[in-house]
Amino acid sequence: NSKRRLIIVAYRLPFKIVNENGQSELRQNSGGLVSAVLSLVGKQKESFFDEDEKIQWIGFSDNSREELEGQSLANESFQAHPVFIPDEINENYYEGFCNNLIWPLCHYFPSLARFDDAYYYAYETANRIFFDKLAQVIRPGDVVWVQDYQLMLLPEMIRAKYPDNQIGFFFHIPFPSYELFRLLPVKWRKALIDGILGADVVGFHTNDYVEYFLKAAKLVSGFGNRLHYINMGSRIIKVDSFPISIDFEKFNSAFDHPGVAQARINARNSLAEKIIFSVDRLDYSKGIRHRLSGFTRFLDQHQEWHGRVSLVMVVVPSRDMIEQYQNMKMEIDQTVGWINSYYGNISWQPVIYQYRSMSYTELVGMYTTSDVALITPIRDGMNLVAKEYVASRKDSNGVLILSEMAGAAAELGEALIINPLDVQDISDAILTAFQMPQEEQIKRMKAMRERIKAYDVFAWTNDFFTQMNMLELEHERLK
Ligand code: UDP
Repeated sequence: NSKRRLIIVAYRLPFKIVNENGQSELRQNSGGLVSAVLSLVGKQKESFFDEDEKIQWIGFSDNSREELEGQSLANESFQAHPVFIPDEINENYYEGFCNNLIWPLCHYFPSLARFDDAYYYAYETANRIFFDKLAQVIRPGDVVWVQDYQLMLLPEMIRAKYPDNQIGFFFHIPFPSYELFRLLPVKWRKALIDGILGADVVGFHTNDYVEYFLKAAKLVSGFGNRLHYINMGSRIIKVDSFPISIDFEKFNSAFDHPGVAQARINARNSLAEKIIFSVDRLDYSKGIRHRLSGFTRFLDQHQEWHGRVSLVMVVVPSRDMIEQYQNMKMEIDQTVGWINSYYGNISWQPVIYQYRSMSYTELVGMYTTSDVALITPIRDGMNLVAKEYVASRKDSNGVLILSEMAGAAAELGEALIINPLDVQDISDAILTAFQMPQEEQIKRMKAMRERIKAYDVFAWTNDFFTQMNMLELEHERLK
């Protein structure tokens, strides 16, 4: 394997060029995928790829062609290959097919899904544009790893032209039950399934998503499976669960960082006796409104806690050019205003609400100060915030309240697991958390920490590429 390169194809590049005071610099994105791929840089890379080669990354660029003119598009880890998609295609592709159809459908909001032929046409066109860029980059022996719901047609396109390259595909959002997937027009369903089946290894976050995908593959394209292997005649595909994870040690060791310790002191000094923390992107799938209803129910039922609890709720701006997201934001603003005006007084504000992004230090400061992390998505592929909270708690204190609809719930069974639509359940869990003896908090937290430590992001990439290699051996054996 020593001379192989890794090519990542994802909707977005891992960094963008920012011009400040006449100087331009590369600014790396902080998202989960970039951190996860970075786990392949350094020691672990040697086992799978040529350590002298950068990771090649093909993706849509936030910068225009003109802005990138004459710029070197590489940092110490990545060599970027920007993809340019005409605005009118990108709108129907990214905002349309991806975020107005696939996203709501896969998060069990079918009533928000918009079906439009122009969306599908743009999706096909855009996948082809990514393919054309890949064709300029790929060499024999390169391993291609295609990421997520924006690029489901791509594995098959690559397979048709480059049958000998290894191709992986990872789906980062929930793969829905067939009753939702079948809402897609027959032609689209089949194209998406066949597209994904161009890969050698297909990964999802949980066993449920794997089962749902295998069922769709059977019903839509007629391919059955044996123990998660699909036999396509000329080759075999492995479909499996690889729960994405985080750099456990990075969050664990942040506990003692001076900035984090100071953030803890500041938060403790300015907030009430019990602190509940939540942070998520603005999205209907995150269950923000139900969370506020659950908190309201708690305040209604437990007067004794008035004045003694602060809910720190940070909502990170996202997709707020879309009207639906703007409306959701307005509703959250109003609800928080109502709660604070109704229950609060001159010395107590129940909800401390912020619509902004947080620095890493602030984030870990809040993770390590809060008595409770309240994570209530209505659907979430994984939810890394839950894992980050656990990894940050070097002191093994704190209670995680977690929605059963988050992929992370499959690994974090010692959390207080709630149904995010059941506001009474949320209210009861808050009370249980507040009353939980410290030994029990520690026992639960330790068990979760052990699990995330053992299956961190290094294990995630290691697992995926080990499977890729095993499958290749199997293919050689069958030749
Ligand atoms: N995060 C961030 N900016 C912030 C607060 C959080 O980038 O201001 C990070 C957080 O640390 C986590 C990610 O955003 O790694 C959210 O991932 P998650 O899987 O919970 O949800 P997603 O946004 O991917 O649906």
